[in-house]
Amino acid sequence: MAQAISALALFAHPDDLEFLCAGTLALLADRGAKLHFVTLTSGDLGSTLLPAAKISHVRQKEAERSARMVHATYSCLGEKDLCVFYDRRTLRKVMEIVRRVSPSLVITHPPADYMVDHETTSRLTQTACFGAMARNYRTGARRPARPLRAVPHLYYTEPFGSRDILGKEARSAVFVDIAATLARKERMLACHESQQAWLRAQQRVSDNCGVVRQMAATAGQQSGFQWAEGFRQHLGQGFPQDNLLAAILGDLVREERRMTPGGDELQSPRDR
Ligand SMILES: [Zn+2]
Repeated sequence: MAQAISALALFAHPDDLEFLCAGTLALLADRGAKLHFVTLTSGDLGSTLLPAAKISHVRQKEAERSARMVHATYSCLGEKDLCVFYDRRTLRKVMEIVRRVSPSLVITHPPADYMVDHETTSRLTQTACFGAMARNYRTGARRPARPLRAVPHLYYTEPFGSRDILGKEARSAVFVDIAATLARKERMLACHESQQAWLRAQQRVSDNCGVVRQMAATAGQQSGFQWAEGFRQHLGQGFPQDNLLAAILGDLVREERRMTPGGDELQSPRDR
């Protein structure tokens, strides 16, 4: 089945997906999934030294290099840092890329995160997945992609630091064992060389790989794996309710028990 899987990682900025879900994406690539990486912005504010146009160019090259490590395509939707808005113009772009990729599985930021660009990207992605089948929604593209035939499975990563902006723990419900791909995740993150100095200066993050290992260890403790990435699946009305990540990755996925709106317990992969 994995041969036919197309997976879309749709994030606000270059390097977000490497921090949050590159281990899982690498596992999907190893199972034959076609991966597509998309960022809303090119990361034009991510430098204390280079002007916006220059750092944008550098960061897109870094993102392309990372994508190549898992045979993914990379594209940028051309928005600006701190200016990712939920508006008609941006939604059309996000809808067009979702239809063009025609994914079975989409991963994006969680609805609540430390940065509004992330939250807005999450909402745009949710609407694009929900509405991608609606034939009457026109993206205005010169050669528009066809509407989808099914709503894709939508997953949210953890927020950075696994906490919302009020400090409340944001606990994942689906965990993926990334022991086999942690080193590749770190190499993908290392492609974003320009960001090491920036994160040191702007967010006092001195060691990107240390952050990644800490997040993977914390998700591991919550799930019983050594190293893990955590997700929540969007289970709102109209979205698929089965866990496609578990169907593809099998024993590498553990999930907390889930309830249907009617109060019945959904099967976890461990029960099958
Ligand atoms: Zn970001």
